[in-house]
Amino acid sequence: MMTEIPLKQHIAPSGEQMTVRDLASCPPPERWHDWVEYDAKVWPRKVEKHYEIIPTICFNCEAACGLLAYIDKETGRVKKFEGNPYHPGSRGRNCAKGPATINQVNDPERILYPLKRAGKRGEGKWERTTWDEALETFAAKIRAAIVEGRRDEVMYHVGRPGHDGYMERVLGAWGVDGHNSHTNVCSSSARFGYQVWCGADRPSPDHANARFILLISSHLETGHYFNPQAQRIIEGKMKGAKLAVMDPRLSNTASMADYWLPTWPGSEAAVLLAMARIILVEQLYNREYMRRWVNWQDFMAAEYPGEPRTFDRFIALLLDLYAEFTPTFAAQESGLPEEVIVDIARQVGQAGTAFAAHTWRAAAAGNLGGWQVSRALWFLSVLTGSIGTPGGTAPNSWNKFVPAPFLKPAPSEVWNELLFPPEYPLANYEMSMLLPYFLREGRGKLAAYFTRVYNPVWTNPDGTAWIEMLTNEQQVELHAALTPVWSETAWYADYVLPMGVGSERHDLMSQETHAGRWIGFRQPVLRVYKARHGEPMQYTYQANPGEVWEEDEFWIELSWRIDPDGGLGIRKYFESPYQPGQKLTIEEYYRWLFEHSVPGLPEVAAKENLSPLEYMQKYGAFEIPQEKAPVFVLNERELQPAELEGTQVDEHSGKIMRSGSAIAVMVGGKALEGFPTPSRKLEFYSATLKDWGWPEYAVPGYTHSHVHRSAIDNERGEYLLIPTFRLPTLIHTRSGNAKWLYEISNANPVWVHPTDASRIGVATGDLLRVTTEIGYYVNRAWLTEGIHPGIVACSHHLGRWRLDAGSGTDRWASAQVALGREQDGTWRLRHLQGIQPFESADPDSARIFWREGGVHQNLTFPVHPDPISGMHCWHQKVTVEAAHPGDRYGDVYVDTRKAYEVYKRWLALTRPQADRPDGLRRPLWMLRPYRPAVEAFKLRGQ
Ligand code: SF4
Repeated sequence: MMTEIPLKQHIAPSGEQMTVRDLASCPPPERWHDWVEYDAKVWPRKVEKHYEIIPTICFNCEAACGLLAYIDKETGRVKKFEGNPYHPGSRGRNCAKGPATINQVNDPERILYPLKRAGKRGEGKWERTTWDEALETFAAKIRAAIVEGRRDEVMYHVGRPGHDGYMERVLGAWGVDGHNSHTNVCSSSARFGYQVWCGADRPSPDHANARFILLISSHLETGHYFNPQAQRIIEGKMKGAKLAVMDPRLSNTASMADYWLPTWPGSEAAVLLAMARIILVEQLYNREYMRRWVNWQDFMAAEYPGEPRTFDRFIALLLDLYAEFTPTFAAQESGLPEEVIVDIARQVGQAGTAFAAHTWRAAAAGNLGGWQVSRALWFLSVLTGSIGTPGGTAPNSWNKFVPAPFLKPAPSEVWNELLFPPEYPLANYEMSMLLPYFLREGRGKLAAYFTRVYNPVWTNPDGTAWIEMLTNEQQVELHAALTPVWSETAWYADYVLPMGVGSERHDLMSQETHAGRWIGFRQPVLRVYKARHGEPMQYTYQANPGEVWEEDEFWIELSWRIDPDGGLGIRKYFESPYQPGQKLTIEEYYRWLFEHSVPGLPEVAAKENLSPLEYMQKYGAFEIPQEKAPVFVLNERELQPAELEGTQVDEHSGKIMRSGSAIAVMVGGKALEGFPTPSRKLEFYSATLKDWGWPEYAVPGYTHSHVHRSAIDNERGEYLLIPTFRLPTLIHTRSGNAKWLYEISNANPVWVHPTDASRIGVATGDLLRVTTEIGYYVNRAWLTEGIHPGIVACSHHLGRWRLDAGSGTDRWASAQVALGREQDGTWRLRHLQGIQPFESADPDSARIFWREGGVHQNLTFPVHPDPISGMHCWHQKVTVEAAHPGDRYGDVYVDTRKAYEVYKRWLALTRPQADRPDGLRRPLWMLRPYRPAVEAFKLRGQ
């Protein structure tokens, strides 16, 4: 906790007495009600500014760092945002995107009122409407779909949810299987690799206490958990940890590493398996951990039934199985020196239980079979026994806390094949990027479609397919874009419904930022401020700029209108737990959670004479005490006798069964919790993959990527394009409203190694044409040795566009373009005017100096769904050449017919099974974001 800073009486040269304290970076909470600073703008005069400080959490990436909003008591407006030192994840530190929230609040381009289209879809004509009208329109449409049994026609499609669990409860209450996400263009592949091992689909490294840290790409540190993870990596390094970063690009993180390992994309699993083999050969593995916790008996029983079932024999089989993964082979595949692979492997083995590792997008998201990368990386964690240890890597569920709300809806009995189609029974998340093709093929339609903080026209591969879908009123009957900012997708909506930025909404979040569990409370700071000063509001939009609202309240209102008399059984989930029959208020929702579902919070709050809700409103975050929610080696937790009532032990496997499911496992004569997998152990051997049609992948292996180096011939002008890397200063498609961030980052040139540039014949700044399977784009070259030769890379943030001179995507960030479909079905996009200064209430808009604003590339990518994980495999085989005569910066050309052919080709990689195991659509044990009832998993007629 912060210590109070002594008040000093200063006498200014003017003779004024000053009352501010010495410089302080983190005001102590006892002074948050009246924090005094001098007004920097009138220096050298000493003019005091009085602020009330109210915490919230950042909405600009998933990390949910703490922010403090400084509310100017004179104007009643937010003046600035700084870090919240009482937030356990971020501890007072933010990246550039956190403080830039103030730009988003004050953006003169922001959408202030609900809008309804006044012309055809995509025509760009809008009229202001009311929240009431929008709610009534959607309620009628959704009610009709529910009453008429069309429960798969209501779809909520989310990019950045910003909460934990709220929406799943809403959809459950409606009884629809309508949760769709962006995850299969983001992380579903990495998740799949983790899930098949341990049942949780994300890792949580304890970097601060590690001895060796291995990162596959810098994704984690440049965008995903950027600040909380980055600060702990540095902490670990300061305590002596070594850091290795495997990334073909010299990222900011790689530049801070002890080892930069620029592997050929897609070869990472080969390198990791070679490291695993070295650890086995040199007996650096944690024998006892593996013996206890790996499902090696299942492996031997299934694959080597005639062999003696001993652990030593298992290790011998492992050495046979991975014999080909020599350092020489890994070096050939990756381009890394053999001795470096051996050296890192030894250091990983020697780090033992203090080996921390992470991979997220990057290699896993780029390659066919990318999930083998996370699977091979977790293999190293298993070998070292570093799962959930201090300095190791835990399943994310051990470092996250999601409080349970009151009254949980029963799961729906509907299965939506637009989300989980029969071709992809193991897809880790919804097959969201294939939605336009499924609707085109007549697999269904959407009566009511919500996109929430989601911009598929711009973000997804083959974005023109999304334009064609969204402008087809037979396929999508009614579409609302719930968004804090204009986007390329909102342009094609029927309704554009403005939602708040990080300081204008309620949400509850928890993330696996370190070995601990915490919750962070996002709150509309002006609403809190006004309530404290005698001006309570019924709805958040009454306190926000214009009529900017928040989703939480929107869904409550919508649910009441779908079921006004409670006859559909929906309304009861949105009634107050304190006043039966009354409409739930958002304050009551969170009050109930904090009072009943967060261990330790009521006691800690009581010590300060606060209610749990008041505590969260005051501090904005809470760390669950470890004695209430331990975080290390939870698989070893011994079950209490009461927990074992009604269970049976399977003598053969040691699994402890209840109602047909394994809930724990006998290990060393004790009933232990284990992992949420079918065996309750770490599944080196995945019977699931074998049973569901992929026997060759039953154990961790190496899949040749679609961009394997043998497929790329540089001499013929072919290169591998990495289109996925993040800049630490931008947010996917939500930073167009943050002027400071665009001032820092406003171009995305193509990274080219100098040897490749001389082959192509370009210098830095020259125009390049990058041609994919379905089209091309034109961008500038940037020569750098920070990229593996033979590979080019282009950041995925920039190249925003708008179709109208004065409206659409923010003018800080977007070029005005012409975009249209030609007679032959091809599409062309051309910049008409780059980014220009403009007049607005913010004088900075007239000072914009950046012009080009980047080049869009995702339109030129076809979909590449991995046949197992379902993940879009982002990396592209491209040809790169100097621009052609007539090419202009920002040009994009796409042939959507070719895109459809590529979709069909990748679809053909799947293996539909005539007979599914147990007659199921999907293994029951695998996660789904919204999980319907078991009955819904059963195929009809089975
Ligand atoms: S790391 Fe993410 S949550 Fe934290 S300040 Fe930056 S953008 Fe906000």
